[in-house]
Amino acid sequence: MELVYNFGAGPAMLPREVMQTAQQEFLDWHDFGMSVMEMSHRNDAFVSMAQNMEKDLRELLAIPNNYKVLFLHGGASSQFAMVPLNLKADKKSADYFHTGAWSGKAINEAKRFIKVNSIGQSNTQGFTIPEPDSWMLDPHAAYVYYADNETIHGIQFHEVPNVGDAPLVADMTSSLLSKCFDMSRFGVVFAAAQKNIGLSGMTVVIVREDLIGYAEQNIPSLYDYAVHVEHHSMFNTPATYSWYISGLVLQWVKQQGGVKVMQERSKMRAGKLYETIDNSKLYNNCVVPEYRSTMNVPFVLRDDALNEKFIREAEACKLISLKGHRSVGGMRASMYNSMPMEAVDTLVGFMQNFELDNACVA
Ligand SMILES: *Cc1c(COP(=O)(O)O)cnc(C)c1O
Repeated sequence: MELVYNFGAGPAMLPREVMQTAQQEFLDWHDFGMSVMEMSHRNDAFVSMAQNMEKDLRELLAIPNNYKVLFLHGGASSQFAMVPLNLKADKKSADYFHTGAWSGKAINEAKRFIKVNSIGQSNTQGFTIPEPDSWMLDPHAAYVYYADNETIHGIQFHEVPNVGDAPLVADMTSSLLSKCFDMSRFGVVFAAAQKNIGLSGMTVVIVREDLIGYAEQNIPSLYDYAVHVEHHSMFNTPATYSWYISGLVLQWVKQQGGVKVMQERSKMRAGKLYETIDNSKLYNNCVVPEYRSTMNVPFVLRDDALNEKFIREAEACKLISLKGHRSVGGMRASMYNSMPMEAVDTLVGFMQNFELDNACVA
């Protein structure tokens, strides 16, 4: 069996040890004589697995007691609608940082339900995080929303933005569990699992209790946080296998030493790659250094004609899924918690050799 280094943005690679445990337990989970996939979500053992998953997440992120943790369907994209539907209450508008493709999608969805005040925009130079003195926050906003890590544009908030009294909402789909943060600064934090937690099909939603119970009337039950709180995320059948894998990944993160260790590793991985890019004449990353993402590193080759050759030769070195998102082109290396350091070292070595081999073009 020849394994590859998968730099895809998501669904993304999982820790090898988690895959091995899942393989061992595949046919016979905890001596039940059947797979966890075949089991009722009402089974005591499954419910207790789910409770442990919540306990582990609370411990890893130091989630205070006045927050509910939900494991929902619908991906991060369903939160683009659930956030305004649940937090609007009697307010008229919400403030949204527009720092890349994912906050852009959230804005477009939110506009169906609430007036959006958009902070920062794409200009001809591309996206960035606007300077705080230009924010113009509305003191009456229902909430302030941002995408913590823009998975496509490689832009990341390294500090929680200081936004005043309105509840702060963060899409942490591509950064949850990769860095420490103070949960008590937030109203809502959510993350689809397929980037840094587990499989697609499950989305973690962490909501401050006082924000629950104000959903718009007449919305589908599945869009109401209060319904999911009441039913412990089992209002209907959850994505059971996705829950199971996420539970294993959370245990793995704990064994590795927790989020602090994940943060050190992600800084080291990203540091190596940015250094290679900055020291080269062939590669370029155009994000302002202070907002560069530690998880997703987009870069372009100075000559687009080399793109295909780069991808082909990288694949021959078992470095796969480096092609950039179709909307921005170039390359992108996504390096979530499961990405081993040796993969980054292999990538960096490959990039340096590729530059030497193509020196005349650069
Ligand atoms: C991938 C991604 C999403 C979309 O997730 P879905 O589960 O496909 O809806 C949203 N936000 C960010 C930051 C992402 O990286």
